[in-house]
Amino acid sequence: MQEYITQAEQDLLHTYNRYGIVFDRGEGVYLYDKEGKKYLDFFSGIAVNALGYHYQDFDEALKEQIDKLLHISNYFYNEPAIQAAAKLKKASGMDRVFFTNSGAEAIEGALKAARKYAYTRDGHAGSFGGGSAGGEIIAMNHSFHGRTMGALAVTGNPRYREAFEPLIGNIRFADMNDFESVKGQVTEKTCAVLFETLQGEGGIYPAEKGFMEQVKALCEERDILLILDEIQCGMGRTGEMFAWQHYGIKPDIMACAKAIGGGVPVGAFLMTERVAEKSLAAGDHGTTYGGNPFACQAVSKMLDLFEENDIIGHVQKIAPCLEQCLNELVSEFDFVKARRGLGLMQGLECSVPVGGVISGCLEKGLVLINAGSNILRFVPPLVIEKEHVDEMAEILRTVLADQ
Ligand SMILES: *Cc1c(COP(=O)(O)O)cnc(C)c1O
Repeated sequence: MQEYITQAEQDLLHTYNRYGIVFDRGEGVYLYDKEGKKYLDFFSGIAVNALGYHYQDFDEALKEQIDKLLHISNYFYNEPAIQAAAKLKKASGMDRVFFTNSGAEAIEGALKAARKYAYTRDGHAGSFGGGSAGGEIIAMNHSFHGRTMGALAVTGNPRYREAFEPLIGNIRFADMNDFESVKGQVTEKTCAVLFETLQGEGGIYPAEKGFMEQVKALCEERDILLILDEIQCGMGRTGEMFAWQHYGIKPDIMACAKAIGGGVPVGAFLMTERVAEKSLAAGDHGTTYGGNPFACQAVSKMLDLFEENDIIGHVQKIAPCLEQCLNELVSEFDFVKARRGLGLMQGLECSVPVGGVISGCLEKGLVLINAGSNILRFVPPLVIEKEHVDEMAEILRTVLADQ
């Protein structure tokens, strides 16, 4: 094993502090490394592998598509993209879909759509003159939206941004769940408010209902777009297809990725017709791979399988088991302070860094990650059963007791 890792350390850019494990295959909710060691997965490749591993119907649909057509570009239509778009629209109630290759790209597209909306709304040769209309976007402190320059510009964490500045301008930051701080950043140029419905990397902080309602009302009053990042919390993870459906607050633009392709790299941004009419038009945005038949077949089949197998009903049924088991750990261990989250996206806040807990779990065959240095994150495949929650709790309890 060491030889693989030594080779990898020489070849790959050191942008991650990787764990010294080489994963080889998965089956159900278990992963196997190259030495055949078995791990229970509560990580899902960062909330991506919603159906776990080697899900037969899904794999077969992909294999069929490989034999038909992999790529054709957006100069033409393709059947899987048409199907996937129709199904995403039905699941979300949004009106228009643009497929991307990643979450960061979905955010980039959402930002461009918002800027173009402002450009049209404010009259492009109008009040701000010439080419510098520059609609302002309000994003949240502690947010995470991806690593490209635009996505970094709205990521409210100096650690990710600092070395790369200047990023795109006219971005202002406010505090999640603090309506007054959002309101305080609004100017006549504001074109969008952007946040994760449930902050992931920032520490598993769900939006509060009152905050969502107040921001939505403000947006409607001032012709500002509400952009929700559902990249991590979307696709059934919280017990609704999209987390905003818990609140009854529909965004004007939504960004998706991670689980929508079940492991195939694909993202999307969706918008309502009202936004589409005033924003991106022919020639304004594009991508070579985005919407390719292979990636879209993954999205289309994921949505079919979600419906056929009532994955969301399953999440609603199993999530209370996970919540209860995490609550027990909060009461058992002094340094485990609180549980937060929705559905199968949960965090345990500890008063100490959790790096040791994560390596201890890996050693004992449980894959977990953190969300910030003090928070353990639980994002298992959505198809876990109660027995897997019990198995996870048993391993984690032993590891926590060793700390
Ligand atoms: C992962 C993530 C992104 C970025 O997605 P990539 O596919 O890594 O570019 C953006 N927003 C949120 C909330 C995420 O969790």
